[in-house]
Amino acid sequence: MSNDQTTNDPTTDASQVRYDQARYVNDGQYEPLLSEKDQTSVDIGAGDSPLPDDLTRDDLELPELSEPELARHYTRLSQMIYGIDSGPYPLGSCTMKYNPKFTEDVAALPSAAVHPDRSEESIQGTLELLYRLQDYLGRIGGMDAVTLQPPAGAAGEFVGIRVAAAYHEHNGEGHRDEVIIPESAHGTNFATAALGGYDVVSLPSDEDGRVDLDALEAALSENTAALMLTNPNTLGLFERDIEEIADMVHDVGGLLYYDGANLNALLGRARPGDMGFDVMHYNVHKTFATPHGGGGPGAGPVGVVAELEPFLPAPRVREADAETNSGQATYELFDPDHTIGNVHGFQGNWLVLVKAFAYIARLGDEGLTDASAKAVLNANYLASQIEYDVPYGPFHHEFVASAGDQDAADVAKRMLDYGVHPPTTKWPEIVPEALMTEPTEIESKDTLDRLAAAFNAVAQESDEVLEDAPERTTARRIDQTSAARSPRLSWHELAEEDT
Ligand SMILES: *Cc1c(COP(=O)(O)O)cnc(C)c1O
Repeated sequence: MSNDQTTNDPTTDASQVRYDQARYVNDGQYEPLLSEKDQTSVDIGAGDSPLPDDLTRDDLELPELSEPELARHYTRLSQMIYGIDSGPYPLGSCTMKYNPKFTEDVAALPSAAVHPDRSEESIQGTLELLYRLQDYLGRIGGMDAVTLQPPAGAAGEFVGIRVAAAYHEHNGEGHRDEVIIPESAHGTNFATAALGGYDVVSLPSDEDGRVDLDALEAALSENTAALMLTNPNTLGLFERDIEEIADMVHDVGGLLYYDGANLNALLGRARPGDMGFDVMHYNVHKTFATPHGGGGPGAGPVGVVAELEPFLPAPRVREADAETNSGQATYELFDPDHTIGNVHGFQGNWLVLVKAFAYIARLGDEGLTDASAKAVLNANYLASQIEYDVPYGPFHHEFVASAGDQDAADVAKRMLDYGVHPPTTKWPEIVPEALMTEPTEIESKDTLDRLAAAFNAVAQESDEVLEDAPERTTARRIDQTSAARSPRLSWHELAEEDT
């Protein structure tokens, strides 16, 4: 490691955060695909199969590699990327990026592998887990009933808004055609309202970054179906006037929707139901430690107050009247009276729900309360250590700094050179060149200091350096549009173009 502070070498002491493997991989060494490494092909002996000829194939050219070659291939690939197991991952608004290994173990238990078409009597344990998870989430959110079906937070929003619409319709209030959303809200809120058939009324923030009550008053009317709020909001600020906001919305007959993406700031301390919210989603991959992103299966359960329960998706799980011979409770599926229907196969993404259940059960009340304390402490500590301007505060679990004259996207690229993952950038738009940062409850003070060192080193750098970053990653400035529209599926093509 060099001590030469005069260069732009990120391996200087300003930040001792690089991982040297990245440099090794980057030195023009693209990792070939397994089929490209292969010298020969294995004859898998399809001709010897006892299966009928028309069910077998002999054109399957599998690569032939020794075990170490195979292990090295995957090890190298793992070194070319940055993952949650490589270092801190302070993306704001996505809250927890913690995927404990024990929840994976629980989901991998043979007893977790149940066929969804089995009879209710034969899956009593499965139903009990789902029932208890509904109950946990209801108690955590202060909600009377919960559906586990929606497969993501955004899907949960859609379900919540459809449930609200069904409720209004049922009460002869189908004319309500507006959903009010603060301008600092996540894009999925606007998309949800529009997809749900509503007109979106966008609400400006006040100068503190919170809901502007005068603007809200002006936006509310007998056409208001719902107000969607994230609390703490996407700036990490708690809406202090939430009770007054709830009264204002309820006074015109509207419903209050809670976007649960930031729930881990409040866990064990405050409940949306007690603040006056009528319907909410939980992002289990943000708050309850299930794997996030990559397009994989997720879960976005929705909780509602009693008045909305009859409209929830079908089926849900409840305790049956009957008991087993040994006096144990039994569980059954049922369709709520005015259900909006089925929004996902069976009960949703079962194994994701198993992980959320395992996490909540393991932490318990005390652990959940401790998690929210550390999330908030870590965000405020990191905010106090970085040299970028942090216009609002004090914060809950995340803060939004401004990159000022620097381009936030360039800042993010450059942070990669310091061996840390950058924060979310350019959003929310009410902070210019936003760096939306959420360290999460899992990082140590040492890691937070390394993150701060990376921020502060980048803050000193020239536009020239920033525009050229990252220098040290396997891939540099990726053309994301072309990558999505015409993906190159072989490293050969990439390597050839590069030379
Ligand atoms: C992540 C997020 C969502 C969407 O949730 P997904 O589970 O990613 O679909 C909605 N609102 C906010 C504030 C978020 O951060």
